[in-house]
Amino acid sequence: MQRALRGVIIDRLTAYHRGNLWKEEDLAGKIRNRIIGALFRQKSVLEVIETRTGKTSELRSQISTRRVDRLVEIACYRFHAALQSHPIKDILDGRITRWYLFSRLEKTKLQNYDLHISPDLVWFSGFTCHVLRFAVQDVARLGEDKRLENFAMVEWARNQIGLPANPERYMVENLYWNGGKWKIWKEKCTHRHVEDAIQMIYSDMKAMRELHYKLGLSCDLSQIPLAKNKLTCRNCGHRDTCPGGENLYFAKLEQSALEMSKASGKFR
Ligand code: SF4
Repeated sequence: MQRALRGVIIDRLTAYHRGNLWKEEDLAGKIRNRIIGALFRQKSVLEVIETRTGKTSELRSQISTRRVDRLVEIACYRFHAALQSHPIKDILDGRITRWYLFSRLEKTKLQNYDLHISPDLVWFSGFTCHVLRFAVQDVARLGEDKRLENFAMVEWARNQIGLPANPERYMVENLYWNGGKWKIWKEKCTHRHVEDAIQMIYSDMKAMRELHYKLGLSCDLSQIPLAKNKLTCRNCGHRDTCPGGENLYFAKLEQSALEMSKASGKFR
């Protein structure tokens, strides 16, 4: 739902930028289309999962019409609240005049990797360049990894024509929904932040390559790192096929037993 919401907020800003008419009465329909579109895409994935697991996916319970109606209602409410929040209100009221929208699908080359690290929105206030993402999840406090992930947006920005090359000129921001209202997380960027973000990306990539190697050619999912808390699994899209999805506690026991038997095999 948050993805559909982000989509219509971007549509609203695009319509304003192009001088197109925005029909408020079409809002619920636009949000519904986006949600149903996402569910439709999810449906084909569910079919593959169900063929593989031989049972009905638990994610199916999230597709009922009543649930979609409720999601549309919530999204409309949050949309109107977003229009009253900074920086969207300031853009629509003409107080922010230099601003740009970007697609998250844009790729940035970092060594051999193609990364999706662009922001949704960029704007200037005086000397400062703001880079912002609309958060897809409701986050109250960002973990260190998410915080650094945000600073990677500056690496993207520095490679764009017309945006500052100096990291110190950037303010990095997230607009997120929490406690019934939109809030802004923001932090001024430094050279150190960008360096740390790039280091984190490199170490993530290294971990992914190692994991891929560990999983082997058959991509044995029994060896993937599992979530720390079962609450994380509740809304995970891999719940049906991941060993942690059914019972995280037993999956962890099973994994350590497998690890032990693999290790003991090496010493035979
Ligand atoms: S279901 Fe598996 S992949 Fe998803 S959060 Fe739980 S442990 Fe991680």
